[in-house]
Amino acid sequence: MEAVKKEPVIFEGFVIMPYKYSVGSMASKFFIKIRDSKVICGAKCPKCGMVNVPPRSVCPKCFSKVEELIELSGKGKLETFTIVHYESSVQALKPPYAIGVIKLDGADTSMTHFIGGVDFKDIKPGMKLEPVFKAKRDANILDIEYFQPA
Ligand SMILES: [Zn+2]
Repeated sequence: MEAVKKEPVIFEGFVIMPYKYSVGSMASKFFIKIRDSKVICGAKCPKCGMVNVPPRSVCPKCFSKVEELIELSGKGKLETFTIVHYESSVQALKPPYAIGVIKLDGADTSMTHFIGGVDFKDIKPGMKLEPVFKAKRDANILDIEYFQPA
């Protein structure tokens, strides 16, 4: 009897799957505040005071339950960035576009978002930024259209 050779058989495919999920109470409050008031909030830990943006319901530093959202100015500083040239079907923008890591004033963590209203060549780490909100907002992160130089 002939031995069966052990070799992996791999099928490649692509699945598009519509879905819905709840973002939870903390993120719901965060997105509704942006939608209704154009205000970005952070979640402040009652024990250690760490402010997370986007908000988290459990402090990543001391694991305390976090329920308080505090309003931030929305202004912040660009920590780093890249220019995206790769195109895929899941992107919100058509490349090329700039995306950066932004630390908002009053926050201890950073968030990632688009950088706009500026030539790519003028984007520099350390630059001050402010959010630009969409006119029609839907309670999601894309209600912030991009961050521009402040
Ligand atoms: Zn904490």
